[in-house]
Amino acid sequence: MARAVGSLDPALGTGPHGGGLWTTRGPGAGLGSVRDVRREASVLHLDLDAFFAAVEQRDKPSLRGRPVVVGGTGGRGVVATASYEARIYGVRSAMSTREARSRCPHAAFLSGRFGAYREASRAVMGALREASPLVEPLSLDEAFVDLAASPDPTLADLSVESVTAFAERLRARVTEVTDGLTCSVGVATSKFMAKVASDLDKPDGLVVVAPGTERELLRPMSVTVIPGVGPATADRLRRAGVQTVADLEQVSQEELVRLVGSAHGIGLFHLARAHDDRPVVAERETKSVSVEGTYDSDLSDLRLMEHLLVRQSGEVAARLAKAGLSGRTVTIKVRLHDFTTTSRSATLPEPTDSPAVVARVVRSLLAELAAGVETGPALRAGVRLLGVGVSGLADWVQDDLFADLDGSDEAAGTTDEEAEDLPEPPRARSSGWAPGADVVHDEHGRGWVWGSGRGVVTVRFETRESPAGPVRSFPVDDPALHLWQQPEDEPTDDPGGPAAREGGLSAPG
Ligand SMILES: [Mg+2]
Repeated sequence: MARAVGSLDPALGTGPHGGGLWTTRGPGAGLGSVRDVRREASVLHLDLDAFFAAVEQRDKPSLRGRPVVVGGTGGRGVVATASYEARIYGVRSAMSTREARSRCPHAAFLSGRFGAYREASRAVMGALREASPLVEPLSLDEAFVDLAASPDPTLADLSVESVTAFAERLRARVTEVTDGLTCSVGVATSKFMAKVASDLDKPDGLVVVAPGTERELLRPMSVTVIPGVGPATADRLRRAGVQTVADLEQVSQEELVRLVGSAHGIGLFHLARAHDDRPVVAERETKSVSVEGTYDSDLSDLRLMEHLLVRQSGEVAARLAKAGLSGRTVTIKVRLHDFTTTSRSATLPEPTDSPAVVARVVRSLLAELAAGVETGPALRAGVRLLGVGVSGLADWVQDDLFADLDGSDEAAGTTDEEAEDLPEPPRARSSGWAPGADVVHDEHGRGWVWGSGRGVVTVRFETRESPAGPVRSFPVDDPALHLWQQPEDEPTDDPGGPAAREGGLSAPG
């Protein structure tokens, strides 16, 4: 249901374009460092609800309405997303899976299917780009949309009524293109307020903040609503008697700078007043060639990580050479055991397609991560995905630019003397029976891995379109059972493209 925060009722004195706050704004208004904020609620923030878990429930009918936890399922695993049914039991993102199991032992614990998440994300971003050319994705399941750039004639006046109706249609469209996923949307005069608003009526909600009502909405909220106010800053502010945004408004800019430092203090001062003039920036056109591998158990051996990255460097360089391309920026991508993704890039003085040059940069980037105060311990706690990319000029870290190259390490032709005394790399995730993975059985058809152990894999035979299905068990090496992979046919600017991926996607057995 749509909900307008602030008043649409002229009797309360804050109509869509009214409010004393706005009459003093504008060029030359003499407000010094006060930033110019939009006058209309034209920034939309969309956030899919419990995204990974919702995709699993969509594709696994027997899990609908049940607690589902997606994340690391091993000993050091961390929860990436919990379904709303699991949240009732206190399961939260970033909690250890061990803790989640003790709070909600009857939940389904799944290790995640990035191909399915990426596919849903592409559909959502596509729907948003139909709505406006200015879409700024923040992650697979979140984006800003600039409604002022939309060609839709119903948005001509950008009134609260028209953006509300438009946002409701957009939400319905997202549900349609994703086969049933829901999202929460906030619309406001700035990115900050739109993001605050999308969180106010989750899940499946819409909140439009009427222009001029931002500050009264923020005042009762905890200072932690402001981006960048983490536990440490919140603690420092609390000790100074500041808990709510209303408290924060009472503190002078000088005092804030003294409390939390200059860059942060000035930002806080403005955000406490809902002053945020950051534009929505469309995703930059990025060309890259990249290779990545996901692993069945978390990697924690740095030498093994280096070995795998060097092999990927060889494959990236080969693909560059084959496509007649070269790039200056080399990036490594690392997904940690808790699903957070980190990357490091270095830009060379001139373009390269040399495996030795790429490998040398990759080694130094890994060493840099390993030496980091935060990244070093995080690496050693376990890594589930490694990737190498080479790009021209732009950034290269969007998840959806990565080819799904599970098993690519096996396909790499490079040899490495050091490999002799290294442990076997863990199997690529696609060749293990990870809980939740899609499978197909020659006789019984499509299903998913319900669990495995002691030489047996148990499969539930159901799909998105079927009713909840039966469970059957097989020996882990049953030749009739195969992993199933969504056929990929989306066009991509990755010259390696779908054709180059085929070799990496062999099913076991
Ligand atoms: Mg979300």
